[in-house]
Amino acid sequence: MASRLAGLDSNERNKLYKRAALLRKSTRRPERTTLVLEDDDDAPTVRRRPAASLQDLVLRLLEQELLEPQASGDLTEGTVVWLGRRACRVRTTDGDIECEISGELAREQQTCLAVGDEAVVRVSGGTRVVQTVHPRRTRLSRPDPDNAHIERVLVANVDLVLVTVSVKTPPLHPRLIDRFAVAILRGGADGAICVNKLDLLEDPAEREAELAKLGPYRDAGFTVVECSTVTRQGMDRVRELIAGKTSAFVGHSGVGKSSILNALRPELGLETRAVSEGYGRGRHTTTASSLYDLGDGTRLIDTPGIRSFGLWRMEAAEVAWYFPEFDPFIADCRFRDCTHIHEPGCAIKLAITQGRVSPQRYDTYLRLVNEA
Ligand code: GDP
Ligand code: ZN
Repeated sequence: MASRLAGLDSNERNKLYKRAALLRKSTRRPERTTLVLEDDDDAPTVRRRPAASLQDLVLRLLEQELLEPQASGDLTEGTVVWLGRRACRVRTTDGDIECEISGELAREQQTCLAVGDEAVVRVSGGTRVVQTVHPRRTRLSRPDPDNAHIERVLVANVDLVLVTVSVKTPPLHPRLIDRFAVAILRGGADGAICVNKLDLLEDPAEREAELAKLGPYRDAGFTVVECSTVTRQGMDRVRELIAGKTSAFVGHSGVGKSSILNALRPELGLETRAVSEGYGRGRHTTTASSLYDLGDGTRLIDTPGIRSFGLWRMEAAEVAWYFPEFDPFIADCRFRDCTHIHEPGCAIKLAITQGRVSPQRYDTYLRLVNEA
């Protein structure tokens, strides 16, 4: 085997050493291991022989490749439609396949893989391993709630993100919309807002007052759809919005995301949760994102409920770019690098006094700049 190794060209040899180094590294942290070699039971899995030297591993990998000429396997491509901790489901033209995530990708895990990703899968014997992911057209990401240094991509390659809120149970909190709106525009997708459970607001005055909270978002250019899965108000409008696109429903748990998906396509039969179980606490109905094909190029992604939404590595100077309602005024600020906070001659602050920019949205702007 050693002479076979010596006979390889340097590129092949380097690849083997790289794979071996990865394998050895994962031995030290078995909880993060995704074994590429578990194809056959006799294959040298890291856990069985933890003391292997790098050289030994290289020789064993080589042996395996020689014994199993197809070890390099065939490549196939598809869309990630479901993602777990170490495995995912990829939709190919030949159907769905369950895949492992390659050691290399698993080290970064969900940072580098998200529902909606276009993945390259290596199929070798009974093993299917996601090798790489194509560059994303769009992304919606936030910092990991437990470790702000890790980026969590919620969904990839979506055309439209529908921020779903409800007027009651849970009550309407526009601040969460603001953060989503910034993250959506930053990630390159379009944003829209679904205001659900309109049936719970019977009193016209109350209805008007609640819906007025969304005026600033319409002014900022977001489509706002008022809907109810009970009366089915607004469902045709949602259908129109999502036709032929890949869209993701995001928002607080309990606002009715799964119910909306069911209303659009009853055969999905997604589990929804009784209001009596409370909202904002306890178990979440949806624990992982899933992508559903509705035909005619329409694809929907249901995401788990999200309570708070941080912004991934946002620079203070960047925040204003994602407030579209500032655009018509920014050029009139006296200073080209105006932060719109304390400078004299700021056109944004003037627009607020003239009622042309919402003070509530400006307030969010200030908060986000402070956080950045
Ligand atoms: P998700 O967590 O956002 O997916 O929310 P679910 O779809 O599980 O819905 C949460 C609860 O709200 C369930 O009890 C639904 O029956 C209820 N619900 C959903 N849509 C509506 C609606 O339009 N009106 C009312 N009154 N209740 C709704
Ligand atoms: Zn300014």
